[in-house]
Parts: sequence; structure tokens; C-alpha cells
Amino acid sequence: MASLRDGLKRTRQSFFGRIAQAIGATEIDEDSWDEVEALLLQADVGVSTTMQLIETMRGRVRREGITHQDQLIAALKDELRKLLMEPQPLNLSGRELSVVLIAGVNGSGKTTSIGKMAYRMRLNNRKVILAAGDTFRAAAIDQLKLWGERAGVPVIAGQPGSDPGAVVYDAISAARARGAEVLIVDTAGRLHSNFNLMAELVKVRDVLRKVIPDAPHETLLVLDGTTGQNALTQAKKFQEAVAVTGVVVTKLDSTAKGGMLFAIQQELGLPVHYIGIGESMYDLVFFNPTAFVDSLFENGSEE
Ligand code: GDP
Repeated sequence: MASLRDGLKRTRQSFFGRIAQAIGATEIDEDSWDEVEALLLQADVGVSTTMQLIETMRGRVRREGITHQDQLIAALKDELRKLLMEPQPLNLSGRELSVVLIAGVNGSGKTTSIGKMAYRMRLNNRKVILAAGDTFRAAAIDQLKLWGERAGVPVIAGQPGSDPGAVVYDAISAARARGAEVLIVDTAGRLHSNFNLMAELVKVRDVLRKVIPDAPHETLLVLDGTTGQNALTQAKKFQEAVAVTGVVVTKLDSTAKGGMLFAIQQELGLPVHYIGIGESMYDLVFFNPTAFVDSLFENGSEE
């Protein structure tokens, strides 16, 4: 099981950890600001968010007479922290059956994240069921079944090529029959030119609504953290198709672009609920803004 600090090692070593060096021990000058700006951009904080940050920081340095490196880093951490939303608990209780619709393109880490989430929920004594709504890829069905086994939760699946709506319908019946509290629905994520990803997603959502009018109670978009700004473009398309309620950012352990989390929240206005920091079942953590910002800077021995 990876720790948050381990998971964010690349982002820290490549960018945020270098900000202290860029600032230097004495008074910050123009060159230093340029360097800080470049580091934030390289970490994928995004252009508008970076510009806004630098502006705010310059203002603070002037007003508060900050000169010391430590004070400056503390102020920057403070400002970065303010860019992140305080996570709200997922809207998954207070009713008989809550439904989570999972969206994202293939390879983003959807199946893995569903498995990890299901495992976490089961550990919290919640009765979970998974629906293999990506019927377009036989491998997707098999993989979800495998994660279901690992996590110890049942998976409702159809034949490859079958109607995803029918699978979802069956899964709701199964969930009700078994007294499940949470149904997590996987969806297709392929980006082929002859496949309308968004239309398929809307179809699945509509089937859910026919049976449970206020479903889905959460629509989580899984974004691959290694794809940086591309993920933001993707997310906007998903937002146009369905009401995305939150984001799961995966693979933060294998990228140096952890800064994208600031851009996601600033530019998309979406909360990040979970982050993936490894491939095992345990490597999904609730997103905690303070711990996240601390882990980006935390000193200590780097092996
Ligand atoms: P899907 O096509 O969206 O369902 O994506 P998968 O769940 O199959 O994941 C694609 C690849 O990303 C797999 O090799 C996963 O092991 C890997 N992956 C998913 N989440 C993480 C993560 O948080 N960290 C790392 N390092 N790899 C991940």
C-alpha cells in the first residue's frame, strides 16, 4: 500500500519541491518569480490558475513584507490549499439503494478504481454490487469480474456485445433482491470514431433514471493523472453530456503532473473525491486537500 507522500514523489521531486530552490534563501526577485511560474506550469497547474496564483502571491509578498523563503512557501501552500475544495462526503446514503455512475475513457483507470472503491466500501460494511456496463469489450467485463472477486463484491454482467441498458436493469433488480446499498455502474470508454461515447453514456443514465428517478446519485469521472491538460479537455466533454458530480484522479504515483488537481477544481468546478496512487486494491485514498498540499512540499529524505 502506497502512502500519499510516496505516491506524489514524482510531482514533488520534479516541481513543487524545486520551488523552494527557485525562490532562494534571500529576497525573491523577478527571475525567481519566472522560475516559480514555470515550475507550476510544468506541474500542470494550468495557465489561468498559475497566473492567478502568481498574482496573489506577489500581492501577499508586497502587503505582508514576506522575504524569507519559509514564509513564502507557507504562503504559497496556503494559497494552493485555498484553490482546492473541501471534499463533501459522497451522496450515497439516506436511501435504500444509491447508484454511482462511473465515466471515463478507456485506460483512464475506471475498472481499477471501481474495484478499489468497492473494496473500501465493503470494508466500511456497506453492501456493494457492481454492474459491468461496458459490454463493448469482453476484456472489460472479465476485468471487472476479477476486481469484484478481489474486493469480495458481486458483479452483474451480460454477454459481450449485449445491451448495457439491460445489464444495468438486471443489476438494479439484483441489488434490490440482495439488499445492496450501493450499485456502482461501469460504462464504456472507447474513443472509436464509429462509437458515440457520450450518447452511450446518456443511454445508460436514462435507463437508470427510468427505474430510479433520482439516480445516479453520483456521477464520477475517472481521469488519468498522467494526461494532464488533456484530461481537462475530456472532462469538459463529459460535463456537457451528463451532470458529472465529482472526479477520481488516477495514477498520481506515475506522473509528475499532480498540479492538474488544482486546474480540475478551478477550471471545471468539480470536487476530487478519490485519488489513485498505485495499482493495488489499497491504493485509492480519499482526497484530502491539506494532506495533498503538504505532500507536494514535504521535506525529508528522498531515497
Ligand atoms: P479502464 O480502461 O479505464 O477500465 O482502465 P483500467 O482500470 O484497466 O486501468 C488501466 C491501467 O492503469 C491498468 O494497467 C491499471 O493497473 C493502471 N492504473 C489504474 N489506476 C492506477 C493508479 O492509481 N496508479 C497506477 N500506477 N496505475 C493505475
